[in-house]
Amino acid sequence: MTTTAAPKDRGVSGDGAGPPGGPAGAEVNAREPLAELFRDLRTSPQGLAGREAARRLVVYGPNGLTRRTVRRWPAELLAQFTQPLAILLAVAAALAWAGGTPALAIAVVAVILLNAGFAFVQEMQAERAVDALAAFLPATARVVRDGLHAEIPARDLVPGDVLIVAEGDRVCADARIIDGAVTVDLSALTGESMPVVRSSEPAEVTGSALDAHDLVFSGTTCTGGEAHTVVTRTGMLTELGRIAALSQRGPTQRSPLETQVRRATWIIAIVAVVVGVAFLPIGVWAGLGWSAAIGFAIGLIVANVPEGLLPIITLALAAGVRELARKGAVVKRLSAVETLGSTTVICTDKTGTLTENRMTVTRIWLPGAELDTGGPVDDPRAGVLAAAAASCTTAQPPTGTQPGSGDPTELALLGLAADLGVAVTPAARDSGRRAVFHFDGHVKRMSVVDETAGILAVRTKGAPETVLPCCTHLLGPDGDSRPLDDAARRELQHSLDRYAAGGLRVLAVAQRILDPGESAPARRENAEAGLTLLGLAAMVDPARPGVAEAVASAHQAGIRIHVITGDYGPTAAAIAHQVGVGRDGGRIVAGEELDQLSDTSLDELLAGHDEIVFARASPEAKLRICEALRAGGQIVAMTGDGVNDAPALRHADIGVAMGRSGTDVAREAATMVLTDDNFATIVVAVDAGRRVFDNVRKFVLYIFAHAVPEVVPFLIFALSGGAVPLPLTVLQILAIDLGTETLPALALGREPAEPGLMNRPPRPRTTGVIGRTLLLRAWLLLGGVSAVLVMGGYFYTLWQAGWHPGDPTGPGSGLHHAYLQATTITFAGIVACQIGTAFAARTDRASLFTIGLFTNPLLLWGILFELVFTAAVIYTPPLQHIFGTASLSWTQLAVIAPFPIIVWGADELARWVIRRRPAVSSP
Ligand code: ATP
Repeated sequence: MTTTAAPKDRGVSGDGAGPPGGPAGAEVNAREPLAELFRDLRTSPQGLAGREAARRLVVYGPNGLTRRTVRRWPAELLAQFTQPLAILLAVAAALAWAGGTPALAIAVVAVILLNAGFAFVQEMQAERAVDALAAFLPATARVVRDGLHAEIPARDLVPGDVLIVAEGDRVCADARIIDGAVTVDLSALTGESMPVVRSSEPAEVTGSALDAHDLVFSGTTCTGGEAHTVVTRTGMLTELGRIAALSQRGPTQRSPLETQVRRATWIIAIVAVVVGVAFLPIGVWAGLGWSAAIGFAIGLIVANVPEGLLPIITLALAAGVRELARKGAVVKRLSAVETLGSTTVICTDKTGTLTENRMTVTRIWLPGAELDTGGPVDDPRAGVLAAAAASCTTAQPPTGTQPGSGDPTELALLGLAADLGVAVTPAARDSGRRAVFHFDGHVKRMSVVDETAGILAVRTKGAPETVLPCCTHLLGPDGDSRPLDDAARRELQHSLDRYAAGGLRVLAVAQRILDPGESAPARRENAEAGLTLLGLAAMVDPARPGVAEAVASAHQAGIRIHVITGDYGPTAAAIAHQVGVGRDGGRIVAGEELDQLSDTSLDELLAGHDEIVFARASPEAKLRICEALRAGGQIVAMTGDGVNDAPALRHADIGVAMGRSGTDVAREAATMVLTDDNFATIVVAVDAGRRVFDNVRKFVLYIFAHAVPEVVPFLIFALSGGAVPLPLTVLQILAIDLGTETLPALALGREPAEPGLMNRPPRPRTTGVIGRTLLLRAWLLLGGVSAVLVMGGYFYTLWQAGWHPGDPTGPGSGLHHAYLQATTITFAGIVACQIGTAFAARTDRASLFTIGLFTNPLLLWGILFELVFTAAVIYTPPLQHIFGTASLSWTQLAVIAPFPIIVWGADELARWVIRRRPAVSSP
C-alpha cells in the first residue's frame, strides 16, 4: 500500500473512533434484523438529524484510523550508517587511526555523523511532505441527513448515518445495506480481488462477517451498483481498524534518479579508493612515509565522495512535490516528479478535462422539428422528452441553497425539464422507480422503469447509436407513434452530425409505456427493446479556459496529445480542434474500429506524428492504447476517472486521476491527482518535473566540479614525492565539502526554470542525470580551470616567500607561516572558484545574463554564508588552529578575488560557443 492509500481516504486522527458504548452502542450486532438494528442505532432510513450526528461525532470521535506511531526512526537513522559511502568513510577513519593520525580519524568520524544526521533529517522531511499531501485530498461521503442528501467529509461519519455507496466509491465505514445492490472489491481486507455482490436481499450466511451478504466494509471499494446503507461502525472499530497492520506503510520506493545517482557516487567512490590505493606505493616510493601516504589516500577518498548529494536530491524532489500540490497536482511518489519531466505523450479524456463538465442543453431535435432552447419552445413533445430524460437520472438537482450533485449530463437534463416546466423532484422520481439499469461505459446508455398513476414505463437515455437500435418507433408531430423508417434514421443522422460538428454532445431519449398488467422487466435486454424515440437533446460543454494555451505549450515541448473519450467521434474531434489538439479533419478512431485493429496496426498508427481522437472508447481501450504507446518507447501520462480506468492508470508511467469528479478507485490507482481536474495542470506538472530534473543536474554539476581542485593538490604532492608540500589539508577539504558547499547546492535545487525549458523536446528515457557532457563540463572545464587557478595561487604565495622545491615548510621552519598562508590560499581559492561554478551551473545553455544575475536570492544567501564561514576559518584563531590556516593579507585576497569571474567566464564562453553551433536536430 502506498503512503497515501489507507490514511488518505480516511483521514488520520490522533484519537481514533473515541470511546465505545455511547448512546447508540457502537458494538451493535450488524447482522440482527434491520428493524432492530435501526432501533439499536437509534436511526431510521431517513438518516440522522444533523444535530444528533454532531453529538455522536463528539462521542465516537472522527472516522479515521489512528496512525500507529511506530518508532521507526532509530532504524532509519541506523540505516544511514550502513550505506556504502558511510562504510567507506569508516574504513578511511580506521586507516587514519592506524596510520597514527587520530585527529584526521576523528574528523572523518565527525563527517560520517554529520552526514548521517543530515541525510536522516532530509529524508524525514521529504516523507512528511508526501504525508502532508493527504490533506489536499479530503475524502467525502454521501449521506442522508435530516432526510436530505448531503456530501460530508468522511471523517464526520458516525454510527447511525445513512451512507450512500455507489460505483467508484471507497466505502468509508462498516455498514449494513438497507436498499439496493453493489459489487464490492474486498481485496483490501481479504486479499481476494474478485468483486463480490452485496445487497439488501436477506441470505442465510454463516461464518465470518466478511462473508455476510448485506454488509459492506470500510477500506473496500464499490465497483458497481448503488446502495443505501446504515453505518454500524466507524474509525478504529471497523474491520479495517482492527487489521492494524494495514496502517503500516510499505517500503518507500527509490526513484530511478536516486538509483542512478547512488550508482554514480558508488562508482566514483570505487575509483577514488582504487586511485588512493594505487598511489600508496607511489607515495611511499617517492619518499613519503607510510602515514603521510595513508593520509594522502584518505584525502583522495574524502575529496571525491560527494557526501551531500543524495539528501539534496531527495530534498529537491520533495520540494517539487510540494510545489506541484500548491499548483493543483498531488503527486503520490517522489519519483513521479522526474518521470513527469520526461513525458512524451498525454492521453486525455475530453469531458471535464478539456471541457468544463458544465453542460447545458441548447438544442432539441424532435421527429420533424428542431428547437433552440434559447427561444420559445411550443412543441409539447419537448416537455415529454425532457420529463422522460429527467426521470431517467440519479443526480440531485440544485435546490435553493445546495448546488446540484451527480453526473453533469444528467444535471443538464434536469435543468432542461425545470426550464420547460416539467421539473422532476428527486423524491417523486425515486419513489416511482421500480427498476434501474445503470449507465455503463460499455453500453453507454441508462434505463429506468417508472410507475406513475399505476402505469409502468421504461425510459432510456444514452448515446444515440446505442439507443437507436433499441427503438422501433418514433414520436410523430401529433403525438402519434410511427415506425422508425430509413428516411427518419437518415434525417436523424444528418442532425446528429451537424450537432457533433459544432462540438455538441448528443443524447437520445426514448420510452416505452408498458401494457396494463405487464410487470416491470427484470433484465436489461427486455427493458430496452421496442422503444419509441422521443428525440435528441444536444448540449454544450464549453472548453476550459487555459486549455488551449496549455495544449500549445505541450506541443512546444514536443509532447503529443491523444484524446480518448467515451463521446461521439465528431463531437470529440470538434472540441479537440477547438483547444488545438489534432489537425482539422485529423484521425478519429471509433471504438469498433479500434477493436478491429491488430496490435501491429495500432503500434503503427501510434508511431506516426498524428494526434488521434479515440472516440466511443471503452475503458479497456485506454489500457490497450497505453500499452501500445509504452511498447513504442513513449512515456505516457494517462488521465482517467472511472473505476474501469484503474488498470490503465496503474499501467501508465503517470496515471492522472481527477480529484473532483473522479472516483476513489481511480484516485487510488493514479500516481497524480489533479485537484482542479484541469488539463492545463498536467502541463504545469510536466514543466515542474522538467525543472526539478534540470536543477538536480545543476547541483550535481556544482558538486562534482570542485573534486578536481581538491584532488590535484594531493596528486602534485604525491607525484613530487613531497618536494611540493601538501597544498590542501584533509580537514580543509572537509570544511569545503560539508561547510561551504551545501547551502549553495540546496539553492541551486530551487533555481527558477531556464528560459526555453518547455521549448525543448522531452528528455529521452535513457538520458541519465549524469552524462558525458555533464562530467566533461564539471571535471574538465569548471574543475580544470579551478585547479589551475588555485594551484597558481598556491605556488605564487610560496614563491613570493622565497620557497624552492624541497625546502622545509614544517613547523619551526622559516617558511612555515608562508606555507600556512599558501594552503589557506588553496582553500579560499577553491571557495572562490565554487562561487563562480555556482553561477555557471545556474544555466545549462542560456547565458546567465538572460536569466538575470540576482534571480535566485537563495543562492545569494548561500554564497554569503559561504563567505562568512570561510572568513571565520581563515581569521579566527581557534579555527585557524583546527584547520591549519593563517590570516591572508589584502594583496593575497586580491589574488583570489578574480577567481569566481574567471571560472564563470570560462563556462559562459563555452556556453556561447555551444549556442552558436547549429542546434542538433530535435526529434
Ligand atoms: P470522457 O471519456 O472524455 O470523460 P464522456 O463523459 O463523454 O467522455 P462517458 O461518460 O463514457 O464519456 O460517456 C459516453 C457516452 O455515454 C456519452 O457521450 C453519452 O452519449 C452517454 N452518456 C454519458 N453519460 C450518460 C448518462 N448519465 N446516461 C446515459 N448516457 C450517458
